[in-house]
Amino acid sequence: MTKDTRVPPDLVIKEGIHGEGVFTKVAFKRGDTLFQMKGKIIQHPTRTSVQLGKDKHIEDYTAGHINHSCTPNIKVNRAKHSFECIVDIDANEEIMFDYNENEESLANPFYCECCGRIIVGKKRQEALKKKRNKTFHLNENTLK
Ligand SMILES: [Zn+2]
Repeated sequence: MTKDTRVPPDLVIKEGIHGEGVFTKVAFKRGDTLFQMKGKIIQHPTRTSVQLGKDKHIEDYTAGHINHSCTPNIKVNRAKHSFECIVDIDANEEIMFDYNENEESLANPFYCECCGRIIVGKKRQEALKKKRNKTFHLNENTLK
């Protein structure tokens, strides 16, 4: 296997139970910086971007492969453009962050595998909640 220089040395992208994801090769401690994102800064979110601030998103190759979890083990440090461990992480563990916590509005909403909730982004989720109180259920239009 050739070494993929786009991925930090302590991480690897491979097939997991959620499809392709990012896994550790070594153990990390809570509070450790996992890696720094390097890539193009853009104004609008894409399917693979990570939000760093208002109208500020980054396209990083590795970050674009990190799956969502409602019980994440890492989080985004927006000021440092990095990912930090929020718990101790073993070697060969999949790293995941909570898209709903970091992103305001996802370019591609989806249903979470673990809880079945629709993941749309934090801001949009709040708007949805308000709307849901009036309409009781979701339909395609509530996502727009
Ligand atoms: Zn979930």
